[in-house]
Amino acid sequence: MAHRDGSARCGELRLRTGLVETPLFMPVATRGFVRYVPSELVADLGFQVLLSNTYHLMLRPGADIIAQMGGLARFTGFRGASLTDSGGFQIMSLGAKITPEGAHFRNVYDGSWVTLTPEDAMTTQERIGADIAMALDVCTQLPSPREVLEDNLVLTGQWAERSRAAHRDETQQLFGIVQGGVDPELRGRSTEMITRIGFDGYAIGGLAVGESRESTLEAIRSVVAGLPEEQPRYLMGVGDPYLLAHATSLGVDMFDCVAPTRIARHGTALTDEGPLRVKGRANRGLDEPLELKCDCRVCQRVSRGLLHHLAHVDTESAGTLLSLHNLAFQFRLITRLREAIRGNSMQELLADIDRVWGGPVMRGGDHAD
Ligand SMILES: [Zn+2]
Repeated sequence: MAHRDGSARCGELRLRTGLVETPLFMPVATRGFVRYVPSELVADLGFQVLLSNTYHLMLRPGADIIAQMGGLARFTGFRGASLTDSGGFQIMSLGAKITPEGAHFRNVYDGSWVTLTPEDAMTTQERIGADIAMALDVCTQLPSPREVLEDNLVLTGQWAERSRAAHRDETQQLFGIVQGGVDPELRGRSTEMITRIGFDGYAIGGLAVGESRESTLEAIRSVVAGLPEEQPRYLMGVGDPYLLAHATSLGVDMFDCVAPTRIARHGTALTDEGPLRVKGRANRGLDEPLELKCDCRVCQRVSRGLLHHLAHVDTESAGTLLSLHNLAFQFRLITRLREAIRGNSMQELLADIDRVWGGPVMRGGDHAD
């Protein structure tokens, strides 16, 4: 890692398509596209890695079609790197039946039964061809009884081993996923199992699903304590500025979340003074940008008065503009974190983030959009 401030680190990650800077945030392109935002604009904002969902892409259009078209980069047209999740989170949220063999669920598009084994998740992700693939894991709803968390973390360990063994493409990185709910001891055990197998990077899954912030951070601490220093650490599904900044201070390098674009489509802008509802009366007829200091295309040209108007009469157009600004906000947050690490001023930045974002957690839910 190029620089450290306490446990926070910034540096570069080498992927087969090139180097990317960390800490990094990945916008979510569930079906190969960030909703409402052309991929060219996502890249222009500075994002270097896009996340897509294996579960959705394997059902439609299918991994074979993406492979025939030259892989995910050609398919999405995104100028940058890519990561595909394994489908573990969607499997849980759609109520799949889990057996030791794999997950069995109904195809959301046509109702047919689909089985996804750890081996299938590997061949599918290799065919889709992202720079980073994820091992298939077993997510657990929180809160859950300890026995359930324990069973699921053991199965996650077995599936991680099978994923590792089935993964063939050495140029594609494979990350393992640590589970274990918010119990520090279970998180520690899962970390030991997953790191013993050995992966190119390690993800922390199954957090920020409704538990308290303190529990989320405690669970992250117990995982990071057992992870190797040299490899990237990825906190899945977290984009809340408070959690993102604090996780970075604990030594996490990568994040993804649907929240910035999802709340944009519901009329909320992210600003350095907190969330802002553009529908609010205060914005009516107001000839001011969302944020004076934001250099995004929206803040350069569009007034709060127009956004307020569109939020009432044309929610899609308002959603497009707000999505673009919110992604710019998220990139600015990451940039501030990188600069604070390089300037050894993480503590000052955290104090500022706590002041603005210490309220309710901004949730991403299923990191599919
Ligand atoms: Zn802006």
